[in-house]
Amino acid sequence: MTVFEQLEKRSHEQVVFCYDPVTGLKAIVGIHDTTLGPALGGTRMWNYKDEAAAVRDVLRLSRGMTYKAAAAGLNLGGGKAVIIGDSRTQKDEMLFRSYGRFIQGLGGRYITAEDVGTTVQDMEWVRAETDHVVGISRAIGGSGDPSPFTALGVYESIKASLKWTTGNESLAGKRVSIQGVGAVGYHLVKHIVHDGGTVVVADIRDDNLKRVTSDFSGVEVVSPEAIYDQDVDVFAPSALGAVINDDTIPRLKCSIVCGSSNNILDEDRHAAALQDRDILYAPDYVVNSGGLINVANELEHYNEERAVERVKRIYDIVLSVFQIAREENVTTLDAANQLARRRIDALAKIKDRYVGMPLRARDRNR
Ligand code: NAD
Repeated sequence: MTVFEQLEKRSHEQVVFCYDPVTGLKAIVGIHDTTLGPALGGTRMWNYKDEAAAVRDVLRLSRGMTYKAAAAGLNLGGGKAVIIGDSRTQKDEMLFRSYGRFIQGLGGRYITAEDVGTTVQDMEWVRAETDHVVGISRAIGGSGDPSPFTALGVYESIKASLKWTTGNESLAGKRVSIQGVGAVGYHLVKHIVHDGGTVVVADIRDDNLKRVTSDFSGVEVVSPEAIYDQDVDVFAPSALGAVINDDTIPRLKCSIVCGSSNNILDEDRHAAALQDRDILYAPDYVVNSGGLINVANELEHYNEERAVERVKRIYDIVLSVFQIAREENVTTLDAANQLARRRIDALAKIKDRYVGMPLRARDRNR
């Protein structure tokens, strides 16, 4: 498939190739859809096996951001960028300064942030060249670490899922299995334990396990392989993708799957497979949108209280997804996609009325 055929297939607006022979920068920016606002999404640095793989990744990820932002109720479109290279050996200030100039050249159509392989420090270098970057440290007015906000969104989603299935959102007396107690998992344990729930956790890192068992009571540890077999109310994958698959679904003894991992389902058809087993699936990209909501807050001068208040709205969004799934008789994954699509399509239909000066002049005067 040619690049243009790939753009047509998933309705991308624009793909920008950025090359700088001096710093060796090779970056690709994917802008999927800007109906709701500027395309926001992180910059991933990865040693792709070839350029075609990098293009495929940026197209897939940028489209995902459109749906995530739309479902989260943000006035943002979907974008993502990749820098081709080894993040351990090929990073330096000038590479990111050069990259920042390309981002500036997009005039705000794309706003970047950190992602896999890039850090807050890298984004501060980018920021020296452009305002169109978020995810910078608290010390310089940014939103800082997104993980506690992502965890808060997962906690709200778990409560909404319990409300939907049992009529009661409280975690008191409930048991939750958490796969991975890293940045997000740690804060998730905290919320559940504080709400009266118990947790069973697994991780491949002893230091992270030790941190949760020493900081909280009511935490049981099992081996990474045993986490799928736990008799629990909720299974919260918070480490890896594709963990809900043909092998694991028959083993699950939970009534809800709701966690922070990206791409929890191995394939979309696994949403229906969970439904067949009467397990409620809270779609990952809605559940884990707290980090995006927090970082997007930087665009309006970061305010933590406002960020927390907005992240808590994920509760109602998750309930809306379940409601659509019931009304339309579709999986919860399809319902989340519908929720996002409806918002984009509804805004696209509103006429852009003449307001006294041509659009371009109006933008200049903002
Ligand atoms: P992290 O790297 O801090 O933590 C992941 C934890 O999972 C680590 O402790 C790691 O040792 C553990 N782990 C790895 N393989 C495992 C296995 N096989 N079994 C059990 N544990 C295993 O990552 P994080 O920031 O906490 O993110 C967790 C997930 O949530 C990731 O999938 C990430 O993409 C997603 N996510 C994170 C954020 C965020 O704000 N950090 C936002 C959206 C989505």
